[in-house]
Amino acid sequence: MEEKKVEDLSKFTVGLSKLRRRRCFFWGVLLIYVPTIWLSLRLTNSDRQTAKVFAVWYLFVFISSILAATGKCPRCGKLFHVNGFIPLFLRKCLHCGLHITADKKQRNNKSKP
Ligand SMILES: [Zn+2]
Repeated sequence: MEEKKVEDLSKFTVGLSKLRRRRCFFWGVLLIYVPTIWLSLRLTNSDRQTAKVFAVWYLFVFISSILAATGKCPRCGKLFHVNGFIPLFLRKCLHCGLHITADKKQRNNKSKP
C-alpha cells in the first residue's frame, strides 16, 4: 500500500505570519481611507487641510503596498504576491500555490479526531 506523504506546513508559520501581518497592514490602510477623509473634512472644513491628510494616507498606502509586495514565500523563496511586474494581493503564492493560512489549516485539521 502506498503511503501519501503530507508536507509539514508548520515550518512555514514564521514566514506566513509575517506575510499576514504585512497584508493586514496594507488592507487596513486601504480601509481607513473613507473614514479618515470624512473625519478630516468634518474637523477642518478645509479642502487644503484634507489634501494634506490625503498625502499622508497615500504615503502609507505606498509604503504598505511595497512591504506587502516584497514579502517572500517561505516555501519557494520567491515574491508571494508578484509574478512579473504587477502585484496581485491574492491569498495564494503566485509561484507555488501555498495558501496564506496553510499552516493554520493544517494545525486545525490535525487537532480534529
Ligand atoms: Zn511560493
